[in-house]
Amino acid sequence: MKHLNIGIVGAGIGGLSAALALQRAGFRVQVFEQAPQLGEVGAGLSLSPSAAHALNHLGLHEVLEAKAYKPEDQCVRHYQDARPLVWINRGRELIERYGERYYLIHRADLHDGLAAAVRRNDPEAIRLGVRGAHVSQDSSGARVDFADGSSATVDLLIGADGSRSAVRHTLFGALEPQYTGYIAWRGLVPMALVPPEILEPPSGVFVGPGHLVNRYPVRGGQLLNFVAFAERKDWTEEGWSIRSTVGELLAEFEGWTPWVRRFMELVSPDQLFKWGLFDREPLSSWSRGRITLLGDAAHPILPFLGHGAVLAIEDGVVLARALAASASVEEGLQRYEGARLERAAFVVLESRKAGRTFHAPDTDSYQKRTQGKAADEGIGLFSYNPVTQLV
Ligand SMILES: Cc1cc2nc3c(=O)[nH]c(=O)nc-3n(C[C@H](O)[C@H](O)[C@H](O)COP(=O)(O)OP(=O)(O)OC[C@H]3O[C@@H](n4cnc5c(N)ncnc54)[C@H](O)[C@@H]3O)c2cc1C
Repeated sequence: MKHLNIGIVGAGIGGLSAALALQRAGFRVQVFEQAPQLGEVGAGLSLSPSAAHALNHLGLHEVLEAKAYKPEDQCVRHYQDARPLVWINRGRELIERYGERYYLIHRADLHDGLAAAVRRNDPEAIRLGVRGAHVSQDSSGARVDFADGSSATVDLLIGADGSRSAVRHTLFGALEPQYTGYIAWRGLVPMALVPPEILEPPSGVFVGPGHLVNRYPVRGGQLLNFVAFAERKDWTEEGWSIRSTVGELLAEFEGWTPWVRRFMELVSPDQLFKWGLFDREPLSSWSRGRITLLGDAAHPILPFLGHGAVLAIEDGVVLARALAASASVEEGLQRYEGARLERAAFVVLESRKAGRTFHAPDTDSYQKRTQGKAADEGIGLFSYNPVTQLV
């Protein structure tokens, strides 16, 4: 199996995690990315213990240590008076129970670390400016045709091309996106500008009727990243990078505590974007013959538990382990799905549920409804370990 030549469409966090895991397992990998340059949008990612185990396994622990912010606690607060509703430990207690903690990282810092590691193994592994337009296969190989007329033939092809995946579309047909009724803003603010008294603790969530704000430090604590969600009746655009204005954002969060409004006032207009949240039903299989999917291409997810990139990273590690343990592509993909389908569907459905809990109309009953627990606490979310999971 180690002679397999593996192609990956998409050099996002999922595609690069898979590339690195496969290289480390001894496979030859080519990654095909549509963008002319590698890069990630300016936004934060929270990485839970399972992603941390996977990244340690991939040799990226130093990137986490050097670039991530390590929160000890997170607090959920009331939108009007900022009173604490739930305190959650994200450090010591998780390490005791699951062997790892939470990390908060700028997407570009993680993406750069993954790309550099892949290129150290093979400087030619990532091909840029090639958009996979069509995939096909026969009994001896899989082929991807690019929009520029070129093509590549490999033994196994992986679609890691995000929630609007062209590879998934070819394999399984259209997966119609349903608008969820929510839009979101994202922004970054220099931490030096933010009054320390509204940062207790720096990682915090604010809940209000139909609205939610999550803010936390990234870039080792130099920047404050925030995501703000609001109900909005109709919306058509799914892209991540529609410009907004501070005025529009503040109008949406009228009446909210200065703990939220003050950092919103500080965001520079070129760092403020909005987009619509769309949902898709989970697939019951991700593979056909010699082509499979991972990350958002396989299981698009709502962001309310901050677990989309976590799942994508887990997929990459498990797929490489499954292939390395198998005598054929077919067996490898069976093992991969066996170790991943249930986990991914569980996290996708829990993320939907968390969205409903956070946005419920009655914020004053939040503590009672959640029994003072975090949305991700006690549901088994953190007990999955992609490095030791049976494949
Ligand atoms: C508001 C918000 C907050 C989030 N917060 C978190 C969080 O805190 N923690 C977390 O774990 N997750 C979070 N997520 C989810 C996470 O961002 C995604 O799940 C993750 O990026 C998925 O990675 P991916 O590699 O599968 O897809 P993507 O990141 O979408 O990457 C796909 C790549 O494929 C390329 N591509 C697409 N089509 C083609 C093609 N035809 N040919 C070649 N290349 C192609 C793209 O250019 C891109 O580089 C959040 C998401 C949102 C919306």
